[in-house]
Amino acid sequence: MTIMKTYKRFDLNFVKGEGTYLYEKNGDEYLDFVAGVAVNALGHSNEKVIEAIKKQSEKLIHISNLYYDDNQIMLADKLVELSNHESVFFCNSGTEAIEGALKVARKYGYGNDKTKILYLKNSFHGRTLGALSVTGQEKYQKYYKPLIGDVEEVEFNNIDDLKNKMDDKVCGIIVEPIQGEGGINLIDSDFLNEIKMLCDKNDALLIFDEVQSGIGRTGKFFAYQNYDVVPDVVAMAKGLGSGVPIGAFMVNKKADVFDYGDHGCTFGGNPLVTAVSNVVVDTISDELFLNEVKIKGKYLKDKLQSMESEYAFIKGIRGIGLLLGIQLDIDMIESKEIIEKALEQKLLIIGAGVDVIRVVPALTVSVEEIDEFIIKLKNTLDSIVLEKKL
Ligand SMILES: *Cc1c(COP(=O)(O)O)cnc(C)c1O
Repeated sequence: MTIMKTYKRFDLNFVKGEGTYLYEKNGDEYLDFVAGVAVNALGHSNEKVIEAIKKQSEKLIHISNLYYDDNQIMLADKLVELSNHESVFFCNSGTEAIEGALKVARKYGYGNDKTKILYLKNSFHGRTLGALSVTGQEKYQKYYKPLIGDVEEVEFNNIDDLKNKMDDKVCGIIVEPIQGEGGINLIDSDFLNEIKMLCDKNDALLIFDEVQSGIGRTGKFFAYQNYDVVPDVVAMAKGLGSGVPIGAFMVNKKADVFDYGDHGCTFGGNPLVTAVSNVVVDTISDELFLNEVKIKGKYLKDKLQSMESEYAFIKGIRGIGLLLGIQLDIDMIESKEIIEKALEQKLLIIGAGVDVIRVVPALTVSVEEIDEFIIKLKNTLDSIVLEKKL
């Protein structure tokens, strides 16, 4: 195998996808509740996405950011209109969006001896060295130190720890409103309000990493819309292109600090990906679509909650919209055992650490597909209960 070993992959080779289903080389059909890790927001082979790719690729794929292109202009306008922020920068991935946001914070503090960036324990912000430096999980960091300097970890939902670490040397604090990779952990409103208050008091930027939780996944277009707090900077990626690689970060007036030459990205927001992203944003920002996400998310969460009493190793169900987590008792079972066993049911699921199963289907998932998911999940858990005598 000449592909580098970084991913431990399943022995599955997919050749086609349709909506919430994936098809293996041998013809087997899988119910896909991974959605390319919360990326394929509109499902596989979405008609509108296919059409946008076809049409745009016949006209123009890439021109660099030396010139204007209407697709990019329109997309920026839409994101700003949906959020009341000021301006948008386009890149290709989540980690790049975070890098840009961190640079905004550093530039914001420039000249005032404000360089410190705070981040939360158990967070995940990406694999490049800057984003990694504010990722509060030792397992991702350990081989790569020293990471960037003057960053400090704050305990999740711990107001006292926050108060201890926040001062006027802080230029920014980065927060996932709902931690994805770290286990679908919701930030407390009280904690978030305190962060906002201390950011204002100390003149620091509040950065939200909505790479996983944004673009409709919680039933609101932006995840911050579930809270009373509006961040200065919002990073997004994953669902933004429903499969084509696009990331972005968006700033309000206060954080609109970049000037000519301060940042760049060769591929960032090229005509092809922004043509697709316009379709994605138009579809998802529709109130009816977002309402459906809420309704389906609630339906799915209720079903999962009703399973809590049936299985001793399910400790709780967390999340909002279609960003849900099943908390496991790891003394009894780890997420990877369930994920592997689910393959026998032709079901694709993903973990968030060893103790949580993440449930992140396409936002276009149907109620019938949710029912099918529940049946397959129960069959999986039943066979584990039998085998392990749990
Ligand atoms: C996936 C993810 C990232 C990193 O995105 P990449 O596109 O893999 O670089 C950053 N933050 C959060 C919250 C994520 O879920």
